Amino acid sequence: MRTDYQCPHCNGHLQIDNHLILSVKHDNDPGMILMMNPGVGNYQTQYHPSHTIIDGQKFKFYCPICSNELTSDLNENLVMVLIREEDKTYELHFSRIAGQKSTYKIMGKEVQTFGIDAPHYLDFLHLMDMS
Ligand SMILES: [Zn+2]
Repeated sequence: MRTDYQCPHCNGHLQIDNHLILSVKHDNDPGMILMMNPGVGNYQTQYHPSHTIIDGQKFKFYCPICSNELTSDLNENLVMVLIREEDKTYELHFSRIAGQKSTYKIMGKEVQTFGIDAPHYLDFLHLMDMS
């Protein structure tokens, strides 16, 4: 399915070809560009070889266009971007902890979950799993 990702702050387009492009930062790291697979529930990432990502590291995610932080207001360990599929726009929340596969596609009170770690945050979201 054709997807289009947008920043919830500036509505800037975050997907180019088959890459969702975000800016991330870990602790005192100067930050880097992270290219994610735009397939929901696909956790492949690409980044410059001068960086390393270790499972369990918690990253802050930023819009590469307006530099606003993309932390979800549902849980501080999640990131939120907008995903458009055909004529529908969803909130896509996913974990900002490296290696944690938790993704939630939300519209209104309905949520679809993706990733083996999805149950981890479901209780916090107070939403009904429609997957
Ligand atoms: Zn933005």
